Amino acid sequence: MHFIWAKSLLSSKNGMNIFRGCTHGCIYCDSRSLCYQMPHDFSDVAVKENAAELLDDALSRKRRKCMIGFGSMSDPYIPAEKELGLTRRCLEIISRRGFGVSLITKSDLVLRDLDLLKEINQKAKAVVSMTLTTADDILCKKIEPNVCPTSRRAEVLYELRDAGIPTVVWLCPILPYINDSVENLEGILSICREARVSGVLCFGFGMTLRDGNREYYYQMLDELFPGLSYRYVAEFGQSYGVSSPNSRELEAVFFMFCEDEKIECDADKIFSFMSEMERDKQTTLF
Ligand code: SF4
Repeated sequence: MHFIWAKSLLSSKNGMNIFRGCTHGCIYCDSRSLCYQMPHDFSDVAVKENAAELLDDALSRKRRKCMIGFGSMSDPYIPAEKELGLTRRCLEIISRRGFGVSLITKSDLVLRDLDLLKEINQKAKAVVSMTLTTADDILCKKIEPNVCPTSRRAEVLYELRDAGIPTVVWLCPILPYINDSVENLEGILSICREARVSGVLCFGFGMTLRDGNREYYYQMLDELFPGLSYRYVAEFGQSYGVSSPNSRELEAVFFMFCEDEKIECDADKIFSFMSEMERDKQTTLF
C-alpha cells in the first residue's frame, strides 16, 4: 500500500474511488486489465490520502444534491480501511452535506459504518450493493480469497435489511465450468429472497476477459483448477465476452425465479434506483 495526493476525485457521473487497486484477490477481477493503465502492482493499493478533502470541496460546489457512487473499480472496504477510516470519513461528509450514497462491496466491514448509512438513508438515500458469485463458501474462498465468504455476506445483507437500508445484489461474474450451475444460482437467489433485496443485477451468464486480467485469471486457474485454462483457450480464444455453456438454462431459471419472487432484475430500473436521489422514502422497487 502507498499513499498518493490526488488532483480530483469525483467523476462527471459523481462516482469515486478512494483506492486504486484492491487486495481482495478475486481471480477474475476486470480492474486488473491493462486498459486501466495502473502504474503500480494491482495489490499495491494507492490510497488517495486527500480523498476526504477533495470530496468535501466537490460537494460544497454542487448546486443540487445527488447520489455519490463508491467503489466501481476498487472495493471501498479493503482490509486496510479498518485502520485508514477513509471511507468512513467520506461517508461522514456525504451525511453532513445531505447527499445520498450508493456503494458496492464484498466486505462485512461495511457494517462498521451502519450508523452513518442509516443517517444518510434517513436524510437522503443510501443503497448498498453486494456481489455474490457462489453459494459455496469453499469455492468462494478460492475465487475471492481475501474477503469474507458468501455466508457472511448474506448475514450482512440480512442486517442491512433489518436496518432498513436498501440493497442490490450483483450476480456476476459467472465463470464457465466453475460457478455456472443451476444449484449455485438457486443458492444465491434464495439469499436474495431472504434479504428482500431491491434488485438483482445480472448481465448475462458469463464473464469478461481482456489483456491483463486474462493472464492473471489463467494463472490462477492453473493453480486452483488444473487443466481448465486449456479448455478456456480452446473454447474462447481471445474473446472479450465469455459465456457459460449453461447460459440458456441459467437465464431461464433466473428470470422465472425473479418473476415468481417479484425480485426486480431490470438493469435500467435498478441503475435508476441506485443513482437517483429523488425519493419518496421507498426502500424497494416495489
Ligand atoms: S473486490 Fe472488486 S476490485 Fe477488488 S479484487 Fe475483487 S473484483 Fe477486483
